[in-house]
This record gives sequence, structure tokens and C-alpha cells, in this order.
Amino acid sequence: MQERLMRYTALITTVLALVSMAVMLRFASAKTIVIAEEVTAGSGAEQEYAEKKQESIPLHLVENKAVSPSVCIPLPEDVRPDDIVIENHYIEHRINVIIAGAETSYYKEKEINGGIGSIRAAACYKESDSVVLAFQMDGLYEHKYLLEEHALFLEFVNPHEMYDRIIVLDAGHGGADNGRKEHGLKEKDASLFIVEQVRNTFEDSGVRIYCTRQEDASISAEKRIAFINELRPDLVISVHLNASEEQSLYGTEVWYNEQYVIPVFGNVELADLLERCVVRAADGRANGLVACGSRMLQGSKEATEQKQKQGKETDVLYTEEEELLMGVRAPAAVLEAGYLTNPRERQLLEQEAYQKMIAEGICDAIRQWEEQTEE
Ligand SMILES: [Zn+2]
Repeated sequence: MQERLMRYTALITTVLALVSMAVMLRFASAKTIVIAEEVTAGSGAEQEYAEKKQESIPLHLVENKAVSPSVCIPLPEDVRPDDIVIENHYIEHRINVIIAGAETSYYKEKEINGGIGSIRAAACYKESDSVVLAFQMDGLYEHKYLLEEHALFLEFVNPHEMYDRIIVLDAGHGGADNGRKEHGLKEKDASLFIVEQVRNTFEDSGVRIYCTRQEDASISAEKRIAFINELRPDLVISVHLNASEEQSLYGTEVWYNEQYVIPVFGNVELADLLERCVVRAADGRANGLVACGSRMLQGSKEATEQKQKQGKETDVLYTEEEELLMGVRAPAAVLEAGYLTNPRERQLLEQEAYQKMIAEGICDAIRQWEEQTEE
């Protein structure tokens, strides 16, 4: 009797476990919607968006937190989870929900309600066989989502609420600005490739990586700085290649802003760690750290502007790298990962395998920073 009861209990428990697993799986699969790669500013997508905006229709937004604290987006009946893509254009403060097979006429009639407080404007337009719902936000947000039958719930959250550690990787130059170009090797391409390797390494890790650009796009220093200062990351690493009149000059340098002092782990600690890790990983030569004092840099900027005002020709006295270091309020360093003007080093820098070694050095520096700053 006792034994039968036990068997019966075990059977019930198994059934219950299976049922709850099925419920969990169902819930998980209902939540599985495809999220596209995040796209950043200054890209072809931005140009396209500006054009599409002309033909867009406004969405009906109704504040009603009784419905949901999240934004509730109604979905046409036949929409399946994999018809939906969410793009976060975080530099532009824009979140796009792309629904394949939907029509703009559907959203002409429906209202979008819930907690809509952080949406500044919303419109929809047709793009090939999809409808794009474009939400212009009042700041930089991450998003969480829940897909239910006939509705998508979107919650906008501060990145720091979602991630303990946030890093910005800045690939120097881009678009019309090649940076330095020597024998077909462009600084903008190498910097982007290196940044991509680092980003891939930390995908699905505890560290959230944001990039100032993820493609060959032109983004001004002001835009990069504004983005970084809004995000308030724990670390900023900018990647460039060096050049000199002196062809014999080669090796790795790291620049930092000595005027902006951060206690515990600041600019100089980051610069030093980055230099050591990259030189070790790429078996390169350490040229040391370069302190960029903001007074000196401000001086050059003013001198340039003074000259420009007087209509005199100016040679650029301050660079994109220096402007970034002066402008950002976070531990930041600019890695100058070798000289394009040195024939031997250029031959190395041309190789993807070598660029990957530099990326590995940056990854090592990030891992060591994680260990050193563990709470
Ligand atoms: Zn550069």
C-alpha cells in the first residue's frame, strides 16, 4: 500500500513537471522573436529613414498605464513571432519595430497604448512587404519585450538597469574619412575590423558592448561624445592606427586625458593596461603612454578656431582622438595600434591575423579590468 502510494505520488509529480515544462516551453517560444542586429548612426539606414519619413503616417498613441506599464502594440491576426524584428538605433534614440506582411492601414485605425511616456513621436511606413513602426524616444533606452497573442509589449529601460558593466568601443574615422591611408590600407577599415572582433568576443557575456559605429559610416566627434556621455559607460576604448613623417617609427601607443582624473581605475590605469595587453598579444613594441592634457588641447583647438575666424588656412592642430579624450566623462583611452607609415609594421597591420591579435590584446585588457574592479 505504502509503496503504491509512493509510486502514485511519483507519477503525479512527473506529470506535473511535464505540464509545467510544456507551459514554460510554450511561454518561451511565445517570447522568441527575432531581434535584428542593432544599427548605429550615420549609416545608409539613416538616409533611408529620412526619406521614408516623408511618406509615413503618424501612429495613435494613447497614454493608459491601466492597460500596461509597457507600450502595447496591437498585431494583425496572422503575424507570427518570426515576422517581427526590433531594431534599436541607440545613437539616434530610435527604436523600430518591423512587422513583415503587415499594412499601414491596420495602424491607421488601431491605437498604441500603455506607458508611452518616453516616446517623443511615432510613425509608421511601408518598406517592401513590411510595416515599420518607428518610435522616436526621449533618450537612450534598452528594450525588453513580451509577445502575446495579437500584441507586442515593449518596455524601455535604462541600460544601467539591465547591465552591470557597459563598455563603448569606438572605431576611429569612417565613411568619407579614411583616417590615414597607406598603400591601400585604410585606418577606418582596420579600426572597424578590430572593434568587431572584440565585440563578438563579448557577445552574450556579462559585459554589454556598445559601438559608435558598426559599419563604414561617418560619425562626427560631437555625436560620438554626446552618445558616450549620455550612456555613461564604465570604459571607453577607441581604436586608431598611427602615422609619422619618420618612417622608421613603429610600435604601440596609448593616449589618455591626464586632466580628467578618475579614482581607483581611471584613464591612466586603463591606458597602461591596454598598452601592456596589446603589446603582449601582438608581440609588438611598447612606445609608452601619451598624456593629452586638456589645457594643451584646448589651446590648440582655440588656436585653430582663431585662425579659421581670421580666414587663414589651418592645419588641423587637434585630432579626432584628442577631441574624444577631451570630451568624454568616463575612463577612456585611445589605442594607436601601430604605424601605417612604417613599411614593416604596415605589412603586419594589413593581415587580418595580426588585427585579430590586437583585438585579443584589447579583450585581455577588458578581462583584467573586470577582475581588478570586481566588487
Ligand atoms: Zn586616427
